[in-house]
Amino acid sequence: MVYSARTPMTALLWFRRDLRLTDNPALNAALTQGRLIPVYIHDEASHSPWPAGGAARWWLHHSLRALDGALRARGSRLIVRTGESLAVLEALLAETGAESVHWNRCYEPAAIARDTRIKQALQARGLAVHSQRAALWREPWELKTGAGEPYRVFTPFWRALSARLPELNVQPAPARLPPVPETLASETLDALRLLPRLNWADGFAAHWQPGEEGALRRLESFVDSRLPGYKTRRDFPAQPGVSGLSPHLHFGELSPQQIRAAVQRVAGAAPGADAEHFLRELGWREFAHHLLYHFPHTPEAPLYEKFAAFPWRAAADYAAQLRAWQQGLTGIPIVDAGMRELWHSGWMHNRVRMIVASFLTKNLLIPWQEGARWFWDTLLDADLANNTLGWQWSAGCGADAAPYFRIFNPLLQSQKFDAQGVYLRRWLPELAQLPDALIHAPWTASPAQLAAAKLRLDQDYPLPIVDLAASRARALAAYEPIKAAR
Ligand code: FAD
Repeated sequence: MVYSARTPMTALLWFRRDLRLTDNPALNAALTQGRLIPVYIHDEASHSPWPAGGAARWWLHHSLRALDGALRARGSRLIVRTGESLAVLEALLAETGAESVHWNRCYEPAAIARDTRIKQALQARGLAVHSQRAALWREPWELKTGAGEPYRVFTPFWRALSARLPELNVQPAPARLPPVPETLASETLDALRLLPRLNWADGFAAHWQPGEEGALRRLESFVDSRLPGYKTRRDFPAQPGVSGLSPHLHFGELSPQQIRAAVQRVAGAAPGADAEHFLRELGWREFAHHLLYHFPHTPEAPLYEKFAAFPWRAAADYAAQLRAWQQGLTGIPIVDAGMRELWHSGWMHNRVRMIVASFLTKNLLIPWQEGARWFWDTLLDADLANNTLGWQWSAGCGADAAPYFRIFNPLLQSQKFDAQGVYLRRWLPELAQLPDALIHAPWTASPAQLAAAKLRLDQDYPLPIVDLAASRARALAAYEPIKAAR
């Protein structure tokens, strides 16, 4: 049937992880139909092994509120329903008489399986289903090595991707949207119970503004003031050197194309080292999606099979140390500062993510999956592709990983990237009065130095839960049989 102005058709627009109106291909495709019903489905029964964690649910609540506000400002509104996704879509199709369903693609294995099933079921009923690429520069299946294999090494992947970046054609948000029939029922966002019951998330709002407006504001302020110097400052956790765009990207509140366009606006067509390095980091995000698509077992199991035999400690043996790591009470300041930043702000600086992950997997010999699960629940940007890559990379068992024998020394990392202890003092106030030379390793302070800093070790702040040199040697010994299996 051909759409004409006299016979508008109705389209369902299924919002998932594309919570924006700018540069939203599914929205623009759905709009060509005439009438538009924007829908969000809260599908707790989806049986995904990775349902959104606590921090991400907080973000989702606020992002959906922002999306509904943006839709209302344009004459539409968000219809929120709870239930199994296909059943909800079928009910809405029946209630609205819609003839088509539009969405932007998601790439987690469970989402791909769900979408494939839904597409087949709806098409079998004669309905039109349209899916679009909105979250990535290239689809994960579009890039292949010369041998026709998926990439496992970042540099050649990035070379191939950066040579094939899509044309920049960012679509503005529509000024007006067709109204949704008043009779069409929607649940309230509060009914979804996404917010945590305890006051854990109270501090998040001081750091973040979920939603498209917050995303665009952060993007503009980053490219205008922090992109210059990004390459050198991005490794120093005390400095505002990075973009902080990760949760916005995860929820699709802005597209990677919008980021490229903003970078190009300030850096010109020939970006310098800072802009190039920043775009390369977004390349890591694309690489992570490429890997997750081609190796869907990796959220749970190592990319390289031989690592399945790695002699991690047993859960009963490490439970107390895992808890100390989660609570930021390991006695290693840079690790504890990172873990407390995570707990209080819902985010952690990339350099510190690498340090805490190395400490967990190598010094404590705790399986990387434990760390990935904790990050999943506490990170606002928790993202199955990026988190899996980050943890497997840190543990040494993933694509392009840090070789296992390269074990971060948290003290050297701390002294190098937070020399004045600014980051440490921000998150560990009990150490604030230690001099710069001692704050990275409080256990090396003399009783007189501790007294002067008003610090009682083992009371105000723990002694290290592990000896760094001995645990390093233990990790290397554990790695020997795996190395031999190469
Ligand atoms: P910027 O430096 O401003 O980078 C811009 C964007 O590029 C980021 O928003 C992100 O989308 C992407 N990016 C940057 N570095 C990486 C990377 N190493 N891998 C993939 N994408 C990257 N990132 C997540 O978004 N979600 C996660 O769950 C996540 N878990 C991680 C776990 C571990 C153990 C490690 C080591 C890293 C993890 N990362 C994760 C990657 C990285 O730490 C964050 O993307 C980054 O710190 C976000 O801050 P930013 O937006 O200021 O980054």
